[in-house]
Amino acid sequence: MNERICALYKKCGGCQMMNLPYDAQLAWKEKQVRILLDKYGKVSPIIGMEDPYHYRNKVQAAFKPLRDGRVISGVYQSGTHRVVPVDSCLLEDETADAIIVTIRSMLRSFKIAAYDEDSGRGVLRHVLVKRGFHSGEVMVVLVSAKPAFPSVNHFVKALLEKHPEITTVILNVNPYATNLVLGPNERVLYGKGYIEDTLCGKVFRISAKSFYQINPVQTEVLYGKAMEFADLQKTQTAIDAYCGVGTIGLVASDFAGQVIGVELNRDAVRDAIANCKRNGVRNARFYCADAGDFMTAMAQDGEKADVLFMDPPRAGSSPEFLRAAVKLAPKRIVYISCNPETQARDLMHLTKNGYKVQRIQPVDMFPHTNHVETVVLLSKGN
Ligand code: SAH
Repeated sequence: MNERICALYKKCGGCQMMNLPYDAQLAWKEKQVRILLDKYGKVSPIIGMEDPYHYRNKVQAAFKPLRDGRVISGVYQSGTHRVVPVDSCLLEDETADAIIVTIRSMLRSFKIAAYDEDSGRGVLRHVLVKRGFHSGEVMVVLVSAKPAFPSVNHFVKALLEKHPEITTVILNVNPYATNLVLGPNERVLYGKGYIEDTLCGKVFRISAKSFYQINPVQTEVLYGKAMEFADLQKTQTAIDAYCGVGTIGLVASDFAGQVIGVELNRDAVRDAIANCKRNGVRNARFYCADAGDFMTAMAQDGEKADVLFMDPPRAGSSPEFLRAAVKLAPKRIVYISCNPETQARDLMHLTKNGYKVQRIQPVDMFPHTNHVETVVLLSKGN
């Protein structure tokens, strides 16, 4: 039995493994990787967290009015729209949790009603908080069902008095019947509208909508392994495929001759280009395209790359991408995956086409959940 167990763990469903002590969770995850990837090579012991609590830098709470006039805030029970009230969570940043509780306690005196999904009445739907663990900067996003949010300026002023650590506040409007937390339009109510944080010595701009790894401590461990596996030389070209906001590519830019990043999401590419400038990186370029199409075009043009970093979504890579990777023939491929099942499938293709798996390193990015992350090094020939 785990010595620190959340009273809500069964109801909430977010922590599938919290009943197990952390050591046993790590052993289970390592075994999952071994079952799927052992046939390609030796699996290194999983790297866990020293302190596997309060690691989430991004916290989201749904708000809901009760019939008796009280308001609850918390998480949707897995697979439902039922709100489980949560004031503090063992995975989430404690500052973020405290801010959400404060906001809930302020609603009545400011006559702000929580949004009711069934009747469509009320305004406040969600609160999203992001905190830069290095910078200490804190973003609060109030998600409103309607463009008009009652006495919003007074509300923000009072909130800042209670939580001076907040550096920016945003009003996001989401009037749609949707599972997405954020709507398309937002207005900055206080501060610069984004936070910045440092990861592996590079500074990244994080806006309300942009993707950023939620466990910064283990992300540094994961990227450290990826850089070690890549063993880049100053004369080499590296590709960062599925690059998001450019984190891996920008970290690699210190060790490589040049870096080429490719990503499908337009906003993420825009952030990657801004992050590149912000860090004064001159040897990286970022492109908005399907990674498979982009790599195929590179291969057709006879371009070469020495190292390929790939970090695809859960579904893994496409056959087209893998064919192009083989044709481009980088000396090393560093494959980061959040789903060892699709990674195993993709490794089959690469190992049948001249690559050999050299290292398999699981890293625990999401303690207490059943998610498993692995970084694999492949190299050409022997
Ligand atoms: N490497 C980044 C992000 C990894 S998440 C990091 O570590 O932060 C996977 C990324 O792949 C997402 O940003 C997603 O938008 C992108 N993506 C999904 N399908 C894609 C495709 N077909 N081509 C290029 N990028 C894609």
